Amino acid sequence: MRAFCFLLVFSCMPSPALAEPIDFTRFNLVDLSHNYNANTIYWPTERTGFELESESFGMSDGGYFYSANRFSTPEHGGTHLDAPVHFAEQGWSLDEIPIDRFFGSAIVIDVSAKVNTKRDYRLSVTDVEQFEKVHGRIGAGTMVLMRTDYSRLWTDRSKYLGSDKIGDASDLHFPGFGEAAAQLLIQDRQVKAIGIDTASIDYGQSKDFIVHRIAGKHNILGFENLTDLEQLSPVGSSLIALPMKIGGGSGGPLRIIALVPK
Ligand SMILES: [Zn+2]
Repeated sequence: MRAFCFLLVFSCMPSPALAEPIDFTRFNLVDLSHNYNANTIYWPTERTGFELESESFGMSDGGYFYSANRFSTPEHGGTHLDAPVHFAEQGWSLDEIPIDRFFGSAIVIDVSAKVNTKRDYRLSVTDVEQFEKVHGRIGAGTMVLMRTDYSRLWTDRSKYLGSDKIGDASDLHFPGFGEAAAQLLIQDRQVKAIGIDTASIDYGQSKDFIVHRIAGKHNILGFENLTDLEQLSPVGSSLIALPMKIGGGSGGPLRIIALVPK
């Protein structure tokens, strides 16, 4: 009888949820973030860059080693995340972004061959369509990375931005997303994030920051100043993109890791 009850109870129970742990040994983990240091590139209108001040470094009075620093940084410089509120008043600030927005499968649209001679290149609808012809339609919730390989020019400001004039953002020349391509990706394909290995998701000559505005309006995240995108295949990688949780932040430092299947 006891055995019968046991069997009855067991057979009526829903099958136990077997949580599969992620086997990280199946992936190459690629760091898509630049270092933050004195050479970190910021928008030309920023008055300061990344500042690290040592508070302690050495043996303490207690006889143990102790080190600690203090840092300060503008939100938008180095490898960072643009929160939707950056260009949309009603958009999420950094701390308001639901955490599922920080994880997703990535695609990489490689325009590196086109941007060597065309610094003002903008990703086009044709680029997206050509990608889809080869790899299939971009699914909802995808994170779209635009690869230019300008990360190789980091930390040479004039080569990376097209100008090293401090205080003057009018003469910047680097590639970004085009308006129509951003609209297609965000409104039609419903991607959850767009990112690039240049200083901005809008190209350097943009005066209206239309791609930022489209992204912000739809609560889409932007990743800027990425690096090492050449280590990712066009499809198949996953991203973990965790920004600093600044209360009310319009953006902030981003540690972004790609999981690339071996
Ligand atoms: Zn930004």
